[in-house]
Amino acid sequence: MKYLSTRGDTTPRGFSDILLEGLAPDGGLFLPASYPRIDAATLAQWRGLPYAELAFRILSLYIDDIPAADLQRLCAATYTEQTFGTPRITPLKTLEDGLYLEALSNGPTLAFKDMAMQLLGHLFEYELARRGEELNILGATSGDTGSAAEYAMRGKKGVRVFMLSPHGRMSPFQQAQMFSLQDANIHNIAIEGVFDDCQDIVKAVSNDLDFKRRHRIGTVNSINWARLLAQVVYYFAGYFQATRSNDERVSFAVPSGNFGNICAGHVARMMGLPIERLVLATNENNVLDEFFRTGTYRVRSSAETHETSSPSMDISKASNFERFVFDLLGRDAERTRELFGATLAREGGFTLASDEFAPATRADGFGFASGSSTHADRLATIREAWQRWQTMIDTHTADGLKVARDHRQPGVPMIVLETALPAKFAATIVEALGVQPEPPPALRGIEALPRRCTLMAADAQAVKQYIEMHCR
Ligand SMILES: *Cc1c(COP(=O)(O)O)cnc(C)c1O
Repeated sequence: MKYLSTRGDTTPRGFSDILLEGLAPDGGLFLPASYPRIDAATLAQWRGLPYAELAFRILSLYIDDIPAADLQRLCAATYTEQTFGTPRITPLKTLEDGLYLEALSNGPTLAFKDMAMQLLGHLFEYELARRGEELNILGATSGDTGSAAEYAMRGKKGVRVFMLSPHGRMSPFQQAQMFSLQDANIHNIAIEGVFDDCQDIVKAVSNDLDFKRRHRIGTVNSINWARLLAQVVYYFAGYFQATRSNDERVSFAVPSGNFGNICAGHVARMMGLPIERLVLATNENNVLDEFFRTGTYRVRSSAETHETSSPSMDISKASNFERFVFDLLGRDAERTRELFGATLAREGGFTLASDEFAPATRADGFGFASGSSTHADRLATIREAWQRWQTMIDTHTADGLKVARDHRQPGVPMIVLETALPAKFAATIVEALGVQPEPPPALRGIEALPRRCTLMAADAQAVKQYIEMHCR
């Protein structure tokens, strides 16, 4: 399988060439040259495979430059009961007839980002060893991404992580999760500032091309294709658990921010998985809901970006969205470049022509539907799930469930992706239920563990010096 850029660069690249990359050189995002179609016989064969084996079969269709036995071993090492807490890896819970939650948050950091990041840790270690190279991952986090990256990369050979976070602004549980890691290759840097200051420092360091090259600086952000690919697997796994035969169709509801999770659903649907609707749920930051209702994509300013009780969905723009628009436009790279390049820079957004937009939400087109949720909706949904189904859900999952229920269709099972556990966002759970959510037994008491974290001013120069001193 070769990969191309959404903005027209068609230099043939294999999976291993793009694994460690972020953006394509022309500023676009990498996508496979085509989506492999799964025929009925293959789908029937896959039903019943253990998760790690299913992952191996799906990944094999997109990765032909890692020997099959190695890829199989990496998948088996990633998707274990030990890491994900259950042999099924992503078990389905029935709320009521035809309404399910797919548990994606039983990994080490209690959020769905572990599903992909854990695989990335194994793939990075493998590829770096094969090349005899090292990588220093520099990132900024306000919570979920940073901890998922650290738990994936801890102890991995050839990789170091330098993770910036805004001092004192993450939830106590998230701070404890990250700062209690004692692995020598993990560096927590608390910046005296807000998340944007952390992000600005990452940009400043990455824009110093000489520093970046000399110190082999890389990232693990959500535009990484391997992350997206790993997420395709649980759409298949959820489908097999909710149905008995491959003639049935299901819908998925996906709490969305950067359009990474639901983009994997789009890829699964393009491969032929019988998905009726991909229901996109946003919180008050409704950039994507607005698009799927109107065909207008309008990036928000930071002043217009709300801080909500589902903070991992607080986005001003959606970094994976270009992948979907490229497909929607019949893979017209010229038009994609115009929209996400010049038009976005000039006007802060774009509006598609009605014939361009129409297939996005048609059932015989790309099958998207969307909706948004508010803080009051989240509280009500958390309460209702607790009272009706004795199920405690987190705030992001609540956004998904709320919008899912607005879009149910008779005879079509609806699978809501559970993207985090309630213990991560305890304050809102207490507000909704008056009950303190318990973390899983292995994580009880982590707030009391010793912490490793360096406090620094919001100064790119100081961060560079720190990396220089610790990157070998
Ligand atoms: C990252 C995250 C999301 C948003 O996922 P995208 O791939 O950015 O759309 C939703 N819920 C939780 C808990 C997350 O951590």
